[in-house]
This record gives sequence, structure tokens and C-alpha cells, in this order.
Amino acid sequence: MIKVKKRKFLLLPGDGIGPEVIGEVKKIINWFNKNKSLDFETEEEMVGGASYEKHGTPITDEVFYKALESEAVILGAVGGPKWDDLEFSKKPERALLKLRKELKLFANLRPAICFKQLVDASSLKPELVSDLDIMFVRELTGGIYFGEPRGIKPIDNGERKGINTHVYTSSEIERVARVAFDLAKKRNNKVTSCEKSNVMEAGQLWKEEVKALHEKEYQDVELQHMLADNCAMQLVRNPKQFDVIVTDNLFGDMLSDEAAMLTGSLGLLPSASLGAKDKNGNMRSLYEPVHGSAPDIAGKGIANPIATILSFAMALKYSLDLDKEAKMLEKSVQSVLDEGLRTKDILSKGTKEVSTSEIGDAIISKLQ
Ligand code: NAD
Repeated sequence: MIKVKKRKFLLLPGDGIGPEVIGEVKKIINWFNKNKSLDFETEEEMVGGASYEKHGTPITDEVFYKALESEAVILGAVGGPKWDDLEFSKKPERALLKLRKELKLFANLRPAICFKQLVDASSLKPELVSDLDIMFVRELTGGIYFGEPRGIKPIDNGERKGINTHVYTSSEIERVARVAFDLAKKRNNKVTSCEKSNVMEAGQLWKEEVKALHEKEYQDVELQHMLADNCAMQLVRNPKQFDVIVTDNLFGDMLSDEAAMLTGSLGLLPSASLGAKDKNGNMRSLYEPVHGSAPDIAGKGIANPIATILSFAMALKYSLDLDKEAKMLEKSVQSVLDEGLRTKDILSKGTKEVSTSEIGDAIISKLQ
């Protein structure tokens, strides 16, 4: 069999259940190397609270440079109560924000998929969510989370003023809209762009730039503009009307969390954060489950690894163009759910409870 070129992943398990769920991804990588001769190369490093304990910082320069050089970073989760009272710059979550910002990962892809086997876990009626498949594209490095000026300042009368700035440039909007249009072409060809153009100038610019790009390059894709508050409402009224939703950092944070909950379980939701392609077509990227480090269940062997495994499938698809292998993995997850195997978080009547590693092994057995 011909061997393809080496592909380098940096694995950052992090804290809490992070090492447990990344452990299952490592088994899958080994399976692909052994059975498909894909020759994935992996390195593993500490990040978050684990890194703080050893090095006094949530991410060392050495690990940061390794992330810069990797084809893709796969992260478990960071954080936990042990580090809650650390000063801001030392908090585990700073590692993640640094990676997103410095690797210029401006497009956050969060699919909200409701597996038909799990419709009962949703808070909405089954017919509203069965086979739901929305792709959120959230702008990740701009907007109010990063805008200047920011801070808390004293003002004259003994009061204080909290300031954050919501700011976007044309190019920041255009590049993330381009990601959304390109994705829609591979899906159901529809983009909904959300902002608050009725009350915010930055929202007005957002709408104008998305419209201009659509007219210039993507007239073959259906484009709909929607106010973000209406989108929040439509997501619970009729979520299946959406295909790709593109929106800014703040609205994307909230709307994608809302959509995530429609699908029932946090343990099933993957995400990808993508940067721009360079002239050779290479792109920086980070893949991680949507959930956090779940300190309440860490070390018990009951964490659901599916979100992390599906994040790895996204890495195969978006960073390595291995669509066939990504589909194989997604199908294996589906088959295991079809068979009624469940980790505790998604257990329901008539299904069988299995551990983190048992569900990982079952997914691998389906790959065979
Ligand atoms: P969480 O996502 O860690 O947990 C919320 C609930 O969901 C918990 O009951 C947990 O047991 C459950 N859960 C989460 N993932 C699960 C899985 N894979 N399998 C089974 N059950 C799962 O959110 P939280 O409790 O608000 O945060 C805990 C810590 O994680 C905090 O320190 C927070 O800052 C951090 N966090 C990190 C990230 C990240 O690394 N990207 C994201 C969110 C929160």
C-alpha cells in the first residue's frame, strides 16, 4: 500500500475529562495509522490548569510554537474549580483564547446536529428537531470580546464605568462570510446572516459587506439576512429552516449555545476553529468539543467522548481533505448509537450504559 505524507497533529488533552476523551481519539488515530496507512504523526502537550501546575503558565511558549507548526491542534478541555481564583492571565482558559487569537482562527464552525436516535433528549418536540443539521459559523477573533477601548474605569462621582467596544472591519466580515458561503455550497446552499443592523452601526456594516460579497461572488447561494434576536426566536420555533448561519462573535456565542441545547447533549457536539489559507492552501486550525472539562465526572470513566471524536472527524474533513475517512468515522458513531450503546449523559430507557473507553472501542469496531 502507498503511504501518504505525514500529517502532524498536536494533541492538547488539558484538564478534567480532557485526557479521557482525547484518549479515545488517540486510539482512533492509531487505528487509521495501522489499517489505512495514513501515517498521522502526533505530539502531546500540556495546556490549561495542567500546564499551570507544572510551568506556572496556562500555555508555554514551546507548546504555543508547536501549535503554530501543526497541521491541526486537537484540544480536550481546560479549566476547573481548582484554578478559578487565579489572576486573569494565569487562568486555564487564557491558553485557549491565546491559541484562537494568535493562530488567527477567525471562523468557528459549530454544527448543531440532532441524531435521530437521541431526539428524546431535546427540549423541543421530536418532529422539530429530528435530523436537524445546522452549521454555525461564528466570527471568533473580533467584535466586542476583543475591541478597544475596554476596561473598568473610575468616573467622577465615585461610580465606575465598564467599557467594551463592538468593532468590525470590512475584511473581517468578508473573510468569515466567505467561509459560510463556501460551506453552504457543500450543504443545502443557504446562508442566514445575523446581526442587529436596526440598532448597531457595526451590524449595518456586517449586513452591507455580506450582501456585497454575495452579489460579487456567491449569487448561486441563497442568502437571507435576519436580526439576531429574531434568529434566537426562530431557532426554537422552526430550527430546520436553517442551513448555515453566519454571525459575529457575541451573537454567535449565544445563538450556537442555544442551538446546541436543541440537540440534547453537550457530550455530542464538536467544533472547529479555522484560520485563513496561505498561498500553499495550508490553514491553521483547532478542533475541540463544545463542552468543558466537566470536573464533576472527571476520572470516573463515564465521560462521553463522541464530541471529541466528531471534532477529530472535522479535522479529517477540513484540515486534511480526508472526506471519506471523516464520513467513515461519523457513520461508525451513528452505528454505535443505533445499537443502543450510550454513555451515562445520553442514557435512556432501552439503551445500554457503557464507559468512555467501551464506547470508543465500539466506534473503532465499526470502523473495521
Ligand atoms: P462543562 O461543559 O464542563 O459541564 C457541564 C455539564 O455537562 C456537567 O454536568 C458535565 O458533567 C456535563 N458534561 C460536559 N461534557 C460532558 C461529556 N463529554 N460527557 C458527559 N457529560 C458531560 O461546563 P461547566 O461545568 O460550566 O465548566 C467546567 C469547567 O470547564 C470550567 O472551568 C469552565 O471554565 C471550563 N470550560 C472549558 C471549555 C473549553 O475548554 N473549551 C468550555 C466550557 C467550559
